[in-house]
Amino acid sequence: MTQSTMPLSVPSGARDAVPAPASGYVALAGNPNSGKTTAFNAYTGARQHVGNYPGVTVERKEGTAHLDGKPVRLVDLPGAYSLTAYSEEELVVRRELTKAPPLAVINVVDAPALERNLFLTVQLLELGLPVVLALNMMDEARASGVHIDAALLSERLRSPVVETVARTGEGLDTALSAALALAREEKAAEPLLLSYGPDLDPVLGSLEKRIADAGLPGHGYPARWLALKLLEGDAAAWAEIRMANPDLTTRLKAEYDTVASHIRSTLHSSPEAVISDYRYGFVRGLLKDGVLRRESGRDRLALSDKLDRVLVNALFGPLIMLAVLYLVFQFTFVAGAWPQGWIEDFFAWLGDVVAVILPEGMARSLLVSGVIDGLGGVLSFVPLILILFLFIAFLEDSGYMARIAYMVDRIFRSFGLNGNSVMAYITAGGIAGGCAIPGAMATRTLRSHREKMATLLTLPYFSCGAKLPVFLLLAGVFFPENSAELMLLMVLAGWVFALIVARALRSTLFRGESTPFVMELPPYRLPTLRSLGVHCWERSWLYIKKAGTVLLAASILIWASMTFPTLDEERAAPLEAAVAAAEAQLAELAAASDGVSGDVFDEARVAAEASLAEASQVLAEESLRHSLAGRLGTALEPFTRPIGFDWRTNVALAGGIAAKEAIVSTLGTAYSLGDVDPEDAEPLAARLQADSSWSRATALSLMLFVLLYSPCFVALVVIKNEAGGWRWLVFSMLFNTALAYAVSAVAFNIGRVIWG
Ligand code: GDP
Ligand code: MG
Repeated sequence: MTQSTMPLSVPSGARDAVPAPASGYVALAGNPNSGKTTAFNAYTGARQHVGNYPGVTVERKEGTAHLDGKPVRLVDLPGAYSLTAYSEEELVVRRELTKAPPLAVINVVDAPALERNLFLTVQLLELGLPVVLALNMMDEARASGVHIDAALLSERLRSPVVETVARTGEGLDTALSAALALAREEKAAEPLLLSYGPDLDPVLGSLEKRIADAGLPGHGYPARWLALKLLEGDAAAWAEIRMANPDLTTRLKAEYDTVASHIRSTLHSSPEAVISDYRYGFVRGLLKDGVLRRESGRDRLALSDKLDRVLVNALFGPLIMLAVLYLVFQFTFVAGAWPQGWIEDFFAWLGDVVAVILPEGMARSLLVSGVIDGLGGVLSFVPLILILFLFIAFLEDSGYMARIAYMVDRIFRSFGLNGNSVMAYITAGGIAGGCAIPGAMATRTLRSHREKMATLLTLPYFSCGAKLPVFLLLAGVFFPENSAELMLLMVLAGWVFALIVARALRSTLFRGESTPFVMELPPYRLPTLRSLGVHCWERSWLYIKKAGTVLLAASILIWASMTFPTLDEERAAPLEAAVAAAEAQLAELAAASDGVSGDVFDEARVAAEASLAEASQVLAEESLRHSLAGRLGTALEPFTRPIGFDWRTNVALAGGIAAKEAIVSTLGTAYSLGDVDPEDAEPLAARLQADSSWSRATALSLMLFVLLYSPCFVALVVIKNEAGGWRWLVFSMLFNTALAYAVSAVAFNIGRVIWG
C-alpha cells in the first residue's frame, strides 16, 4: 500500500487539534450501505437520539461525538445516491443540507465502489458545502487489491480525503478533525463548477441568472444548483420555485421545454440523462491516471459477480429466492410462536391473578378484558417483529435484498410497484400467516413515496395469521371436501387484490413515473452482529411505543362498547336469577353427593351444569345484544343482509377491527357459547352447521370480507405512521371495507345461485 504511510491529505494545519465550534453540526452523508451508521455509532456511542423527520418516516439520527474532549454534534443522514429527489431519503438529505447547512460534511464512501459513490460527492461539492471524503471500507479495498491515491484524489477534488475503516474506528478521528478544520476556515467553500456541455451550459447560465435576479433561492445555497435541479426535472425543486415565484416559474419552464425538446430531437435523450452523463464523465476523469487502480482477480466485486451468476441466474435465482423467503418466513413464525405463546400465557396468567385478587365487577372486567388483554395483544407481536427485522436487517446488510428486488422488479413494475415491495408483501402474509404490521414497517425500505404508498395501502389484503382461524373454521364447516384448496385460493386472492388495487392506486391517487431503478447490486458482505442488533432494536422499540399506547386505548374502547350499556334491572333480573338458581342447584348436588358417588348424582350434576351453562350463555348473549356493539351490529343488519351477515357476524367483524383474532371469539360470545378458543372452535363449528341462516354462500362471503375489509387497529396505526397522516388510516378503513362489501356481495349472490 503506497498510501498507508500517508492516509490523510488535508490542507496544511488541519491535523492540529481543533476545538469544536460552539454551535452547528457535522453531517455524515453517503450512499446506502457505505458505513455511515457504523461510523456514527463509533463516533457517538450511546449518546444518540433517534427521531423522525417531520412529515415523513425517514429516521433522523443525531448524536454527540467527542474530539479531544470537546463535544461535536453529528447527524447521520439517510442513505442517498444523489441529491435529486428520487426518494424520500434523498429529499430529506437535500432539505437538511440546504435549509440547515452543516458546518461540514463527512462524505462516507464505499472505497471499493468509489466510482458510483463519487456521483453523490460531486453534487455535495456543487452545493458548495465543505466536504471531507472518508474513503471507508479501506480494509476491504486493501484485501481485494483496490488502490486509491488519496493525495491525488484530494488535490483533484480540492477537499480532504481520509482513509477509514468504520468498523474498527480507523481514521475516524482524523476525518472529524479535518471536517472541523474546514468548518473553521474563514472563507466559505467555493461551489464546484462543472460543465454540462454546449447544449445545457447556456441554459444553465440563463436559469441561474433569472433565479438569482429574483432573489432566489435565498437559503444560502447557489442559484446555479437550483437551476441544475430544475434542468434535472426535479419535481420538488419545481414545486419549491413555483411556490416562491409563479411568474418566474412560467418563464423558466418555457426555457426548460425548449432545451428539452432540442435534446430529445438531436440526442434522443433528456436534460436529466445528459447531466448525469457529464457527472459520470467528471468522476471518471477524477479517477484517471492512477487515482484508482484495481489489481485484477482479487477484486471483491469479482467474487460477488461469481456468486451472482448463480444467485440471480434466470433459472436458479427465483428458485433460491423463493427458498430463502420461505425459510425466513417459516423460521419467523415458527420460532416466533414460542415467545409469542409465552407472552400470551403470561398475560393470561396475569389476568387470572387479577381476577382472583379483585372482586367481581366493572373494575375487574376493565382491567382483565380491557387493559391486560390489550397489552398482551400488543406485546405478543414483539417477538415476531424482532425476529423478522433481524432477518430483514441481515438480508439488507448482506446485499441479498437488493438481488431479490432486482429479480422481481420487472413483474412488480407492471403493477406500478417496485422490486422492493416484495418483502413487505411477503411479510404481510404473501405466504399465509404473515402480519400486516411488520409488513407495513418493512415499506420503510422503499425509496419512492408513490410506490411506498401503493404498497402500504394494499398489504392488508394478505392472509395474515389472525385471519387464518376464520378461514379454517368456515372452510372446515362448509367446504369440508375442498378446505385446503379454498385456503390456497384465499392466499392467492390476497395477491390478486393487492396487485390490482396497487395498479389502480398508481394510476389514480399516486399517479406518476416509476422511479428509475438506479440501485446497483452492492457486493455481498457479512453483516456485523452489532449493526443487526441496532437495526432490529430500533424498529421494534418504535413499534412498542406507537402501537402500544393506541392499542391499549382501543382495547378499552371495545371492551366498553361490548359491556355498556348494561342490561337494566328488569331484563337482567330473571336471567341472573336463572343463573343463580342453576348455581344453587349445583352446590346443593355437590353437598348432597359429598363422599357418595353414583349414577344418579352424576346424571343430575351433568344436567345441572348444562342448565348453568345455558343460563349464563343466555345472559351473555342478551347483554351483548343490549350493549353498544350489539346495537351497532343490529343497526347494520339492513346493510349486511345483502352479503349474508346478521347482527352477530357484524359484532364479530367490528371486534375484528380491534384485532382479527377477536372475530372467532366474538362470534362465540354472540352465539352464546361463552369464550371460544380460536384454536379450538369445535362447538362453534357445530353451532354454525346446524344454523339454517348459514350456508356455503354466507361462508364464502364472510371469508372474502375478512380477507379484504378494514385492517386491524395496530395495522391501521402503523399505516398511519408510515403514510404520514390520519387520512390514510381513514382511507384504509373505508376503502377496504367498501371493497370487501362489493366483493362479498358478488360472491354471496353467485354462491346462492350455484349452491341454492
Ligand atoms: P449505512 O447504510 O451507510 O448506514 O451503512 P452501515 O453503517 O449500516 O454499514 C453497512 C455494512 O457495512 C454493515 O454491515 C457494516 O458493518 C459494514 N461496514 C461499515 N464500515 C465498514 C468498514 O470500514 N469495513 C468493513 N469491512 N465493513 C464495514
Ligand atoms: Mg444507516
